[in-house]
Amino acid sequence: NIEKPLDFIRQIVTEDLRTGKHSTPVTRFPPEPNGFLHIGHAKSICLNFGIAAEFNGRCHLRFDDTNPSKEESAYVKSIQEDVKWLGFDWGENLFYASDYFDKLFDFAVELIKKEKAFICSLNAEEMREYRGTLTEPGKDSPYRDRPIQECLELFQGMKEGRFEEGSHVLRAKIDMASPNLTLRDPIIYRIMNVHHHRTGDKWCIYPMYDFTHCLSDALERITHSLCTLEFADHRPIYDWVLDVLETPAHPQQIEFARLNLSYTVMSKRKLMQLVQENLVNGWDDPRMLTISGLRRRGYTPTSIREFCKEIGIGKRDSWIDMGVLENAARNDLNGIAPRVMGVLDPLKVVITNYPEDTVEDIEAKNHPQNPDMGSRTLPFSREIYIERTDFLENAPKKFFRLDIGREVRLRYAYFITCISVVKDDATGEVLELHCTYDPETYGGNAPDGRKVKGTIHWVSAAHAVNCEIRLYDRLFLVENPDVDKDVNFKEHLNPNSLSSLTKCMVEPSLANAEPGTSVQFERQGYFCVDSRDSKPDKLVFNRTVGLRDSWAK
Ligand code: ATP
Ligand code: MG
Ligand code: MG
Repeated sequence: NIEKPLDFIRQIVTEDLRTGKHSTPVTRFPPEPNGFLHIGHAKSICLNFGIAAEFNGRCHLRFDDTNPSKEESAYVKSIQEDVKWLGFDWGENLFYASDYFDKLFDFAVELIKKEKAFICSLNAEEMREYRGTLTEPGKDSPYRDRPIQECLELFQGMKEGRFEEGSHVLRAKIDMASPNLTLRDPIIYRIMNVHHHRTGDKWCIYPMYDFTHCLSDALERITHSLCTLEFADHRPIYDWVLDVLETPAHPQQIEFARLNLSYTVMSKRKLMQLVQENLVNGWDDPRMLTISGLRRRGYTPTSIREFCKEIGIGKRDSWIDMGVLENAARNDLNGIAPRVMGVLDPLKVVITNYPEDTVEDIEAKNHPQNPDMGSRTLPFSREIYIERTDFLENAPKKFFRLDIGREVRLRYAYFITCISVVKDDATGEVLELHCTYDPETYGGNAPDGRKVKGTIHWVSAAHAVNCEIRLYDRLFLVENPDVDKDVNFKEHLNPNSLSSLTKCMVEPSLANAEPGTSVQFERQGYFCVDSRDSKPDKLVFNRTVGLRDSWAK
């Protein structure tokens, strides 16, 4: 376990504490409550809350709720649940940008009084024309020199609902010739006759992100405002607003590379489409890389935190392979998930020399490497189920499982030898195997020293619990469903991303498994009792990950 060097943001924090610029770091995680959190947000959560924890500072949870048309309290609730589940605690520090609406209005008035903002009455199309392009400077709005008093009155009128949506906006007066388009007199307030999930109908004007975010940070005395690289262009306006206005602090905006994962889309807007068009079964569909989807799939908070640690924080955008995320799940579950036996595609085996009315208790370890996890007993009887793929007729030499005349070890029980196969006369389908067992091989060794290479899992047919197992494949067929702007990302959906197996048989110890329980089905992978659809008399398991990386090329 080699300690990684500090990432560039932690280096900045360390330096700021050393020089006394700050005595404690204060960070914030600022989600907009317009959807559920995804694995990309987890990166930001781990960074912001992680720094607070490591440097004895604090991290605010702030809802960036200034665009009421897309925001809802249901999302506020889910976001809080997800942050807590990931293992982080904002304590007292829960904030809403909407709590600052009064203060933000006053700040805007101050800007007008300083001749740093004006009411612009161009319509949207005119505004676009005046704005210019990347290669062409913009032109000043004809309203740019509107007198202060007139601007103040119009702004008050906007607040009082006296104007139509789109008739006026408040714009910062920065520089229409700037090569950075975000500085070309950006809009900072617009009229929106929309109900807000917290402030109700009190407001019909709402502030824009670039005005709200820096001021919210300053009001909360954030020291380091960490955001993704797309906001680098917005840093000048962040600093401009805080330089022009008298604020309690001037936080430092620092940008880091966002998380991009292969075979998925990550924007809430796109995830929302999948949900609304029923292309997945809700935000917490186990195929979704939302926090709630990953939780339902069987990911642990530790595995997600370790994943974020593993990928680190950098300044350049990069793509992370899905295998890295899956490995994090494997690494954690390997240590904590009890081993059990479950057969996905059952094939009946009759052990013809085993007494008919006998049931034996077989002792099985819950974790071969961790004796503290104890053991359980498994019933063994004359009829068992094995995995259909563990039998192959006329198998090649290297197939160390069952064929007629071949011997295998049943995990924790006996050696069995396949004697004959019963087939459906019409279809030729294998219906059951007839085998004999060697009573001398209990526990897995033969007294005569003969070796068998293969060990297979099994469950007693009379005692097994029937259940459904859901297997998941990648949700998209291509590494980057967003890459070609002419093709809608939904065209790349994998039609076979979910397969449901309903004839599965698992050992009886799982009969009362609680929703959310994670286990390893030996030889198959890690599985988790589904928290939405599993019922005591109808268990449903989700495969979290297989035992090996299936994404590697
Ligand atoms: P989306 O485009 O998915 O809606 P967003 O950035 O609009 O994401 P917010 O709710 O505004 O969503 O994001 C909250 C915080 O999470 C922001 O600070 C944002 O930078 C961060 N964040 C969002 N997506 C990622 C990502 N893929 N990687 C790292 N951080 C992210
Ligand atoms: Mg956003
Ligand atoms: Mg976005």
